[in-house]
Amino acid sequence: MRVVMKFGGTSVGSADAIRQVAAIVSTTHRDHEAVVVVSAMNAPDLRTTDSLIAAAHAAARGEGDATAHVAPRLLELHMRAAAELTLPAECAALEPELRAMLDYLSNLSRSIAVLGELTPRALDLFSGLGERINARLIAAALRSAGVPAQAIDATDLIITDERYGNATPLMEETTERARERLLPLLESGTVPVVTGFIGATRSGVPTTLGRGGSDYSCSILGASLDADEVWFWKEVDGVLTANPKVVPEARTLRMLSYSEMAELAYYGANVLHPKTVQPLVQRRIPIRIRNTFNPDHPGTLIGDGRGDRTARAVTAIKDVSMITVGGPGMLGLSGVAARIFGAVARAHVNILLISQASSEQSVCLAVSHAEAAAAEAELRKELSDEFSDQDVEHIEVLESLVIVAVVGSGMRGTPGIAGRVFGAMGNAGINVIAIAQGSTENNISLVVSAADGDEAVRAIHRGFDL
Ligand code: ASP
Ligand code: MG
Repeated sequence: MRVVMKFGGTSVGSADAIRQVAAIVSTTHRDHEAVVVVSAMNAPDLRTTDSLIAAAHAAARGEGDATAHVAPRLLELHMRAAAELTLPAECAALEPELRAMLDYLSNLSRSIAVLGELTPRALDLFSGLGERINARLIAAALRSAGVPAQAIDATDLIITDERYGNATPLMEETTERARERLLPLLESGTVPVVTGFIGATRSGVPTTLGRGGSDYSCSILGASLDADEVWFWKEVDGVLTANPKVVPEARTLRMLSYSEMAELAYYGANVLHPKTVQPLVQRRIPIRIRNTFNPDHPGTLIGDGRGDRTARAVTAIKDVSMITVGGPGMLGLSGVAARIFGAVARAHVNILLISQASSEQSVCLAVSHAEAAAAEAELRKELSDEFSDQDVEHIEVLESLVIVAVVGSGMRGTPGIAGRVFGAMGNAGINVIAIAQGSTENNISLVVSAADGDEAVRAIHRGFDL
């Protein structure tokens, strides 16, 4: 089978971690075609991408030598790992290559200091360097471990638009390029080690896909190469039924549907961002989340399928406020919902949950605490006429709340789920402030007070025997 796999920054954060990565790739390579996508080294004492971005900003403030401070540390970090992981000849070839890349950055840094301006385009040259360095290091480590490997810059593979700092791939062209470049390597038994995070415009100017973009790179390549499976190697065994800090008995889910994954991501569970894996979901390519530091664990398999006829996981969003707009004149007042949402949008506030009973006396919106005041102010402005006519008589903000979300695509059409959720709340003596369920029935969300949040999560976890 053909596997495209990505290792995150912590999975390649030290010589020991990279040794583990090499062992995983070597094992996979025995039975499968493997493409490896790597992030920049995220070492405990030196976060490569962060330090590159900081240096670029310092340069823009006129510190021409900003890169001169970080470049030697980055060289040392990578060469120290190389000394442990690569054969002497590999190590000797790597050093001048990395040095030249960092010298280029130091020169760029001086030019930016002279100009006194950092464009997003120049920033992308800086921020993507960690991946370029690391792909070379890891390819050398693989060759030294007896696995034929070649470092490849994704600027040759992933063609993007010109939104520097947050570019979007042009899939058709990317697919063509990636296949042309990578399939011959796979055929010859070589493992391509591709930089995550970066791409290039049609005219070859480097871009980046946004912070954390290596996952996206991996999806793009997995889709382009029509992979049989795509594996994301992280620092956890997979997706959990709940946050283990809140629910000690939380366990790893063996399987998850695409829509369950998307719901969980929305609620802040530490999984994959839906936009990131969209190219894979579209093609129904199975995804696995696996643990670099516990490779014998099967991890979580995410794919098609409806899931069990029950809840699968429970998660919470903290620091939520709820805004209630209400009054007798709201009944049948057409356009009021549109104006409410319009006002909140003008305040650039993201709505987390909406609920309105069919009596139409009030509309509730949950937003993050940090954004509540801005939303409230804009709502008061928008509805000031209705206020004076007393059609709308109150805009209330309730603070210190939590949204608890119960997720499972098999809940759809299964009677009794809501009963179990609310039964669990009743048994635990927890007051439910608001409720929302979309008609996809993938998710039931409850608003409860922050003081009850953890207990609500535990009660539901128990109630469904997760
Ligand atoms: N190195 C990049 C970042 O830190 C991309 C990634 O790690 O996914 O944002
Ligand atoms: Mg990352």
